[in-house]
Amino acid sequence: MLTMKFGGTSVGDVPRLQEVVSIVKQFLPEQPVVVASAMGGLTNVLLETAHNAVQRKYELVQNAVTSMRDRHLHIAMTMIKDEARRSKLIQEQIASFEELSQLYHGVSMLRELSPRSLDAIASFGELLSCRQIAAVLEENGIASQFVDARTIIRTDNNFGEANIDFVFSNAAINQAVTPLVQKKIVPVVTGFIASTEEDITTTIGRSGSDYTGSVVGAAVNSREIWIWTDVDGVMTADPRYVKGAKVLSEISYREAAEMSYFGAKVIHPKTMVPAIGKKIPIRIKNTFNPTHPGTLISAVPSADRSSAKTVTSIDNLSIIAIEGNGMIGVPGVSARIFSTLARAQVNVMMISQASSEHNVCFIVPHKDSQAGVKALREEFSIDIAKKIIDDVTVKEPVSIVAVVGEGMIGSKGIAGKTFSAVAKAEVNIIAIAQGSSELNISFVVEQADARNAVQAVHDAFHLS
Ligand code: ADP
Ligand code: ASP
Ligand code: MG
Repeated sequence: MLTMKFGGTSVGDVPRLQEVVSIVKQFLPEQPVVVASAMGGLTNVLLETAHNAVQRKYELVQNAVTSMRDRHLHIAMTMIKDEARRSKLIQEQIASFEELSQLYHGVSMLRELSPRSLDAIASFGELLSCRQIAAVLEENGIASQFVDARTIIRTDNNFGEANIDFVFSNAAINQAVTPLVQKKIVPVVTGFIASTEEDITTTIGRSGSDYTGSVVGAAVNSREIWIWTDVDGVMTADPRYVKGAKVLSEISYREAAEMSYFGAKVIHPKTMVPAIGKKIPIRIKNTFNPTHPGTLISAVPSADRSSAKTVTSIDNLSIIAIEGNGMIGVPGVSARIFSTLARAQVNVMMISQASSEHNVCFIVPHKDSQAGVKALREEFSIDIAKKIIDDVTVKEPVSIVAVVGEGMIGSKGIAGKTFSAVAKAEVNIIAIAQGSSELNISFVVEQADARNAVQAVHDAFHLS
């Protein structure tokens, strides 16, 4: 079997869907299992419209529903000629949009939009997309079956970023998918969505269809997991922002996980987890250039051992600092800081402590910074009053820039080269952290400087 996940751009319009048909047809002898995203941009529109609904912006909601519906109906009208098949698909689409309108109506009546409601609303993107992909494949003579992942992937109820129950899901995926493949039917499984034990719809995190692809691919013991997207593979940097970024032919699971954690949008960071367990290679491929070999992600460290491989960045972050002479040598300060943040459900992305112990700083998503500062000021109110701690300060927006590569492990001078390149670009570094794995060096700069810093480091390592 060969599991193929198609991203939003790859299923976003008629020409792309025609390409999907031709790719699936070409790989039919390999027994493909398809996993797909919502049509490009649709999840954003679904969620924005939910926020408009809660604010009772009825006209915006109505217009959005109409335009999303027309976008899907257009696919049915232009790509499905068989009358019975077309009218079945159109009926399903109309019913879905009626149900979606009702959800928006409920949200605006209640003026309440919980993470649980957002997941229910977001799920329409993948459901609509995969129903139409299955119909389009059938139309082109490829036996195919829509599979609603909510019936085979079980999660907890951490809406928006639910955690998968692998014991249940692996068995259920196998039970549903493998018999279809044996009957030469191509399953088309919805990415991104799942459900709880009580059948409540959940999602597994934005851009999570990649993760669904590898969850399904690993469960059925695929030969490889292919992630079809709109670039030739994993590149030395984000090609939208960095001049001279080039495609890497091979990277390791660890490199892929690290770079995606630090902002490389091309693959979701969790994608590597199920594949590593079964040593299934992942390949990133381009639907706009399907003959390009793409990037192979596997356990084998790549032949190309050049020290640093990629430079990435994440925006919209805040750096929170706690400072005070009274902190020096006092045990338990860090423990208090991080347990306070955990209680406030603030996700800490990076930590840096001066060895003098006079300052601890850490990076959090911008959306969490206020809650974090408030919780810390409460926790340390007595220490602040006694001047043991000066204050809790926050600086934003900042970005993390990360340099990643297995070849960096044990090789000298990487940090020096990185920081002198940044200095030469006249970018100020606010904080530095090195993962103890030595697989990456990451540092914090003002967001306005992030692109320059990435380009400078990219140039310094001759990645282009
Ligand atoms: P899909 O809809 O197929 O999931 P995404 O938009 O999520 O596609 O991911 C592909 C995009 O990731 C590319 O168009 C590219 O702009 C961006 N990207 C960011 N960093 C990198 C990188 N290091 N290598 C390749 N692409 C990257
Ligand atoms: N459609 C979902 C999103 O936009 C999942 C994905 O595309 O991977 O986040
Ligand atoms: Mg993606």
